[in-house]
Amino acid sequence: MDPKWVYVKDFKKHIDQTVEFRGWVWNKRSSGKIAFLQLRDGTGFIQGIAEKKNFDDETFENIRKIKMESSIILQGTIKKDERSPENVELHITSFKKIQEPIEDYPISKKEHGIDFLMENRHLWIRSRRQFHILKIRNEILKAIRDFYNQNDFTLIDTPIFTGSIGESAGNTFKLDYFDYGEVYLAQTGQLYLEAAAMSFGKVYNLGPTFRSEKSKTRRHLIEFWMNEAEVAFYKHEDNIKLQENLVSFIMQRVLENASDDLKEIGRDTNKLQKIKPPFERMTYTQAIDFLKKKGFEIEWGEDFGADEESALASQFEKPLFVEKYPRKAKAFYMQPDETNPDVVLCDDLLAPEGYGEIIGGSERIWEESVLMDRLKEFNLPLDQYQWYIDLRKFGSVPHSGFGLGVERTVAWICGLEHIREAIPFARTLYRVYP
Ligand code: ATP
Ligand code: MG
Ligand code: MG
Ligand code: MG
Repeated sequence: MDPKWVYVKDFKKHIDQTVEFRGWVWNKRSSGKIAFLQLRDGTGFIQGIAEKKNFDDETFENIRKIKMESSIILQGTIKKDERSPENVELHITSFKKIQEPIEDYPISKKEHGIDFLMENRHLWIRSRRQFHILKIRNEILKAIRDFYNQNDFTLIDTPIFTGSIGESAGNTFKLDYFDYGEVYLAQTGQLYLEAAAMSFGKVYNLGPTFRSEKSKTRRHLIEFWMNEAEVAFYKHEDNIKLQENLVSFIMQRVLENASDDLKEIGRDTNKLQKIKPPFERMTYTQAIDFLKKKGFEIEWGEDFGADEESALASQFEKPLFVEKYPRKAKAFYMQPDETNPDVVLCDDLLAPEGYGEIIGGSERIWEESVLMDRLKEFNLPLDQYQWYIDLRKFGSVPHSGFGLGVERTVAWICGLEHIREAIPFARTLYRVYP
């Protein structure tokens, strides 16, 4: 009977058994009598050992000379080995090549520039560090879904093509849409989630978002994934708690299920372990005072840039909520604060260690007359917002929600310098290839 195909992640359950391995060679070294193949199969990394005495000369030469990134099928016996990084090794008894690279593999051990690596992203995702980062991203996305499922939210997929501009006209992608004319790629699904919250109460989405961001920063992608949530009858304080709980849940899950991946990429988990509710809080006005004292040239009314966000957040080990921004600095749909109508009941959640804004949230305007005033104040085309105004006519209630940037969260948790490594195939200002 042929040995059973077993994934590397399950090797520990098959000690001293003979199994089949299907995967790739990502590195190798050899002496005259023994060849060490560094193998990967998508679930893990393992060392394979071939001894000359177990093969005919030709086969052993084939193993010894195997090129990096060859695809292979092996059979072998799994042996315990405390010296190997995974504590198990595969002692190879049979060797079959599927394909050997027909050109030299372009990514080697030497340092490559970032442009070269991005140009070869389709291959770069095979590299160990990139593999672990994208595994952590996967864990984060799983945690997001589980959090909402455990808390009785309904998943509402919001559309990508939208007739209204969402929240600000500045950075939308415009497209031709049959006879309809111009439509836009979604910058947010929030307005649709607000509609759904009036039917389902607690709703969320998880999908791609598009912003024609002309600025080149380490924190902006053109296409990024956002998770938005919206809850009927939630006020500002409920909204803050929901965000705290979500972020803490994600962190807990990553620490539980992906601590090996974090270790592989050298992330300090002590810092991540501290991410538990309650988070830090500060009003926008307090933040401005703090920044002025630190010598920043910023006036009340202006939004923060990356430097300001870093200065504010790096005072603390936990994430920081900056709340109650000036009405004029934020989107039209935010509920004014009763005690000071110049500010709105919103929050930006800033990650520690300078990773910037990961969430933007707010209590939404629920009264029709207030919404009409704000749409006019912001000069928005009323005809496109009719359906949104409708929501304020039929059993409207106070409600709140937020949007969490998936790649910002990945970049923070993984400790990445640049957000382009936080998504499998990044779309940036100058790159849509591969
Ligand atoms: P920023 O101030 O950093 O430009 P924003 O305030 O424009 O962000 P929001 O509209 O509040 O962003 O979007 C919600 C979340 O989506 C942000 O908190 C952030 O995590 C993420 N996000 C926004 N723009 C981008 C982008 N271009 N690339 C990646 N993530 C983004
Ligand atoms: Mg922005
Ligand atoms: Mg912002
Ligand atoms: Mg924001």
